[in-house]
Amino acid sequence: MTSAPISVEDFAASARKFLEANAERKQVKTKFTWGEGTDNVSMFEERSRDAEAEMLAKAKDWQSKRFDAGFAWITGPTEFGGSGLTPVHERAYNAVEREYRTAPLGAFQIGLGMVAPTILAHASDAAKAKYLKAMWRADIVGCQLFSEPGAGSDLASLQAKAERDGDEWRITGQKVWTSGAQFSDIGEIICRTDASLPKHKGLTGFIVDMHAPGVEIRPLRQMTGGASFNEVFFNEVRVPDDHRLGDVNNGWNVALTTLMNERASIGAADSGENNIHTRLVAMIRHYELDKDPIVRDMLADLYINSRVAGFTSQRATDKMRAGQLPGPEMSIGKMALVNNQKRLNDLVAHILGAKLVVDTGEWGTYAWSQLLLGAPGMRIAGGSDEVMRNIVGERVLGLPKDVGIDSKSPFRDIKVGTQKG
Ligand SMILES: Cc1cc2nc3c(=O)[nH]c(=O)nc-3n(C[C@H](O)[C@H](O)[C@H](O)COP(=O)(O)OP(=O)(O)OC[C@H]3O[C@@H](n4cnc5c(N)ncnc54)[C@H](O)[C@@H]3O)c2cc1C
Repeated sequence: MTSAPISVEDFAASARKFLEANAERKQVKTKFTWGEGTDNVSMFEERSRDAEAEMLAKAKDWQSKRFDAGFAWITGPTEFGGSGLTPVHERAYNAVEREYRTAPLGAFQIGLGMVAPTILAHASDAAKAKYLKAMWRADIVGCQLFSEPGAGSDLASLQAKAERDGDEWRITGQKVWTSGAQFSDIGEIICRTDASLPKHKGLTGFIVDMHAPGVEIRPLRQMTGGASFNEVFFNEVRVPDDHRLGDVNNGWNVALTTLMNERASIGAADSGENNIHTRLVAMIRHYELDKDPIVRDMLADLYINSRVAGFTSQRATDKMRAGQLPGPEMSIGKMALVNNQKRLNDLVAHILGAKLVVDTGEWGTYAWSQLLLGAPGMRIAGGSDEVMRNIVGERVLGLPKDVGIDSKSPFRDIKVGTQKG
């Protein structure tokens, strides 16, 4: 006989008990005070490798504790280590956890937000059993190996190839912009498996061991100073066939599962006790610009558009939670996010002027340059502005399709990017 699922109220009560025992409760919200605490507002992680390792160890420790108590993969199927509960239980847990100070889990965003759902949807039972629990318990971390020097927006032009060799595949090629590859244990890779088919048809997805012989990871330095991306080279790397994701040559659908989850996670709204908007308002007050009509106008414009974007993103998330396919809200949400980022940057630049480009040592000034220099990355990650506009133009407004690159001829007959021969 199976027992009835725990009620949301009882679940929230047991979450509180767990958090009381394992985390520190946040102090009653003190108002953000200009000049106090850290002035870091960077877009990307800018840690040294030592600081990154320390952050990762804390994140793994917290995630494994949550997992062992049944609070990490709340909606996951029990057969693979999840708690088998509903999104309502998950929301209830998240609401309670927000009251406590816990380790940031950003290092797992790609692995758990994009790779794990793809493994659940497309991997063999053996691979699901091997990786899902380990990923959700943070015993291992996953990364996304899609982009290549000649294939970004036009991902289907990728050229890393996988060749069958008995029960294994041999992977050779180069990936680029791989966030977090430096601390990842596995990667979701899309490879070309049949160049005689049109470009979208001859692709296959795999789970690859990032520590396998033949994998070489080289960091890429960003203009903000950090190195959170990498180039990853594969030289005849062996992957067992049961690490294939979905059918041979069905990799485009596998990639779409991952990309759908990527846009959902990027479109998510910014929140938190010291969020950027709170800091911005404090800065405006600090410089006594709260009566300035131009500043007030720019701030109101930013606030209104951010609220609207938040509701659009909420609509997309609710649709997915209700089991529906996400629609154009995802692309619109992403475009709105980057447009609001531009509004924010323009306002910060208007207020700070030269203090943004020269470090005078004054608290809360030059630190914003990290955010402004990181912002262009958001216009590209998860689908560039132009590509998002193409999607909205074609699928929402019904405009004629982007001419694009030949998607009917065999891939080996078309010249794309750096394709040889
Ligand atoms: C912060 C960040 C994190 C990332 N993390 C990862 C990761 O973990 N794993 C991974 O695989 N990749 C990652 N990427 C790579 C990302 O997916 C690609 O950068 C993105 O798909 C764009 O590809 P590209 O850089 O090759 O640019 P291109 O596709 O070469 O685009 C160049 C320019 O041409 C425009 N353009 C291209 N096609 C069209 C078109 N049809 N119509 C109009 N304009 C067009 C683009 O908008 C852009 O302005 C990351 C990127 C960023 C910025």
